[in-house]
Amino acid sequence: MSSSSEKNQKPAPDRIYEAKKRPCLMCRDKFTSAWPGERVCPKCKQTNLWRAA
Ligand SMILES: [Zn+2]
Repeated sequence: MSSSSEKNQKPAPDRIYEAKKRPCLMCRDKFTSAWPGERVCPKCKQTNLWRAA
């Protein structure tokens, strides 16, 4: 057992999104977005239900 068996390296586990505080595009209120795609605070999401038509 003397071979280079170092093929067990992972580049990155999973895309870990940093929770940052961003201003909501709807009410402009600062909220903690779990990921970059989150640009509307949960409050507005619930209020408008994101146009669930
Ligand atoms: Zn909002």
